[in-house]
Amino acid sequence: MTEMPEAAQAPTGELGGLVAIVTGGASGIGAATAALLADRGASVAVLDVDPDAAEARHLALRCDVTDDASVRSAVTEVADRLGGIDIVVNNAGIGAQGTVEDNDDAEWQRVLDVNLLGVVRVSRAALPHLRRSRAAAIVNTCSIAATAGLPARALYGASKGAILSLTLAMAADHIREGIRVNCVNPGTADTPWIGRLLDRAADPAAERTALEARQPHGRLVAAGEVAAAVAYLASPSAGSTTGTSLAVDGGMQGLRLRPE
Ligand code: NAD
Repeated sequence: MTEMPEAAQAPTGELGGLVAIVTGGASGIGAATAALLADRGASVAVLDVDPDAAEARHLALRCDVTDDASVRSAVTEVADRLGGIDIVVNNAGIGAQGTVEDNDDAEWQRVLDVNLLGVVRVSRAALPHLRRSRAAAIVNTCSIAATAGLPARALYGASKGAILSLTLAMAADHIREGIRVNCVNPGTADTPWIGRLLDRAADPAAERTALEARQPHGRLVAAGEVAAAVAYLASPSAGSTTGTSLAVDGGMQGLRLRPE
């Protein structure tokens, strides 16, 4: 666990005075999001199974989103130490490849436990705190896999499709409590996760070039671009935006490009 440096606690910027939780905030999209929220003035708590990898300016707590006791204890600690909770970014997630025939029940349960139930657990623990906030927002990290029929992504796509539905249902349930709920749908983003996938290829550099060429805008999505979308949805500027998904995918969802 790391202590919040005093300088990071000064409320400045649009998110000044607000407290944000970012799950999976020690790497990739979550790390970029935690950094941007802190740059905009929020006090940020990173909840991650690998808290030592989080930036030292954040409050980093060891938390496994598959463990309800771990989640409740971390959320309570954040509220006690940082003085409440205003923003929850449910970002922790793991990948899965294969068709419905490739993954057995245990694998389905393992991935859904992180990607779906992890969001449920953290939201459930945070909601009593969010009700006391003047600017409450939940932003879930969904995926292009929720809306596109990607091959060999049955489990992963289903786990993220469920997040899309959960986002809509929670937005409806909590709008009158002043709590907004939205999600971002990243395309293939340049994070350690994708790096690990590329490293499995016989020629990682060639595989990266091929992957970039498959994106409509010819490159991977930058983690900072997803973070910017999350920061917007989490901010008071998005005060009339709830129950939406914002694609950050180089046009993959919206465009119907013909192969050249
Ligand atoms: P990443 O592997 O770089 O980071 C994931 C972080 O989540 C890590 O810090 C990891 O320690 C943490 N984590 C994993 N399991 C956890 C658990 N049980 N409890 C707490 N923390 C846990 O991945 P990333 O690429 O930054 O992905 C972040 C999110 O973005 C995921 O939800 C993923 O599904 C989604 N996403 C990623 C991409 C992409 O191309 N990278 C595309 C669409 C959506």
